[in-house]
Amino acid sequence: MNKQIRQRLIVYFRPTYAETIQTDMSVQDLLLNGRERIFTSVLRFTSLFIIFALLSTLPNLISKSLWGLVIFYTLFSATVYIFSIFRHIHLFLRILSFMTLLYVGGVIDLCYFGIGEDWRLYFTGLSVTAVLFIGWRAGMFSIGLSILSYTVVAWLISNGLIVPSATMMAIQIPSIENIITTNLIFLIVNAGIVTAVDALLHEYHLVSQKERTTAQSLCLQTAELEESLNREQHLATELKSALDREEELSQLKSRIIATVSHEFRTPLTVIKNASDLLKRHHISLSEEKRNKYHKWIDESIFYLTELLQDASLIESANTQKLAMRKKVMLFGDFCHRVQNDLESESYSSFNIHCQIQGNPHTTILIDYDIVRQVINNLLTNAQKFSSSEDTITLKLALMDQLTIAVMDQGIGIPTAELDRVWELFYRGSNVVTTQRGLGLGLYIVRQLVEMMNGTVTAVSPYPTAGKKGSAFIVTLDVVQERKAEPMVV
Ligand code: ADP
Repeated sequence: MNKQIRQRLIVYFRPTYAETIQTDMSVQDLLLNGRERIFTSVLRFTSLFIIFALLSTLPNLISKSLWGLVIFYTLFSATVYIFSIFRHIHLFLRILSFMTLLYVGGVIDLCYFGIGEDWRLYFTGLSVTAVLFIGWRAGMFSIGLSILSYTVVAWLISNGLIVPSATMMAIQIPSIENIITTNLIFLIVNAGIVTAVDALLHEYHLVSQKERTTAQSLCLQTAELEESLNREQHLATELKSALDREEELSQLKSRIIATVSHEFRTPLTVIKNASDLLKRHHISLSEEKRNKYHKWIDESIFYLTELLQDASLIESANTQKLAMRKKVMLFGDFCHRVQNDLESESYSSFNIHCQIQGNPHTTILIDYDIVRQVINNLLTNAQKFSSSEDTITLKLALMDQLTIAVMDQGIGIPTAELDRVWELFYRGSNVVTTQRGLGLGLYIVRQLVEMMNGTVTAVSPYPTAGKKGSAFIVTLDVVQERKAEPMVV
């Protein structure tokens, strides 16, 4: 036989599940699907059996003009066939109709064919279907109903009230003993079948339930294991990144120590030479020269102090030792403090123009010391990279955010290097050796601004008075409470 046809025949008589079996299905649903499969298989075999039964009995029934029986058997066959094919018809309807047909078929068989023929087949089918889908009690009830029906019909036949008209065998007239014996045999055989089917189903139910519980607890354990594995992995990644960071920091520290200590040499030599000269030739030196050496010493000390401050700031920012100490203050007070500090610092030799915009009564929440450090670094750079006659502008503007801008007319930053100036130890290609520095200032500015969740950008050229110039713009979210007062410039 062609392999494909054979395969189709096998699937027809041993159908697969009507629904796709899901792992989260309840045991009840699983069992129902299994039983539906058995039921469909039984219907398909039954419809095959019916074809042969019809072929052998129909000519007999037609010859005896038993049209009622012809119609019943044809309807019976059609129903079984339809139910065996259309599995989506509700299972309850299919079972109930099939059981009714089996019962009616059994009674008709008894009445028309007598006690010796197929009635046992119908009634056994009925009790098996009942136990399969409804339970043991329904199975036993079907047996009782079958025995009662048999007894009644057999008694009617033995009393001549019913005469089996379709049988081709000699009509048997059952005696009381016949009826009792047949009933006993039927009862024992069917009760055995019903109980066996029920026990089988019960066992199957238990096994499935046990299997499901095991599978569920396995799933749970797997999920727990997966979760703890994920946790471990997460911890390992965190540990690795902490270690990497630690290593990075230690390399950074070594680099800072090496570079800064190297940078110390020149100013220390300047201090040493100047103080030696002052000591040895104090009397012979002119007032002007003495002042010059003192200035060298002051400048070198200032430079060294700045260097040390920068190095310690980087260390604190990188090891998160730098704690923010935000305080509430009025924008006006903030501006005054900045202006006062500017006047007292060494920028005084430069022409620093201060612009203020915003309502002085608006309250802001700010860590003044950190902001001051940012402004200081930007102004020091502006001063370093400009000539003394250039103007430096410091703008403090408060709108939705606080904007701090430092603009100069100095040497500017080559466009290609605008992104690189924030790197540690980076110095622009247009910087000359007299413009001393180590490339720490802007790195610190970015670290501090990010600490305050703000942004900082560099713009160059920033054309002011026809020169190149640069501008550094810092924006911070600091506004606490806005006062409905007119803007004061
Ligand atoms: P340093 O000032 O010690 O060189 P910074 O980190 O402060 O280090 O600045 C890095 C580089 O950015 C500087 O070397 C310079 O090239 C450039 N730069 C910073 N500020 C200015 C400025 N106001 N004008 C021109 N270039 C600047």
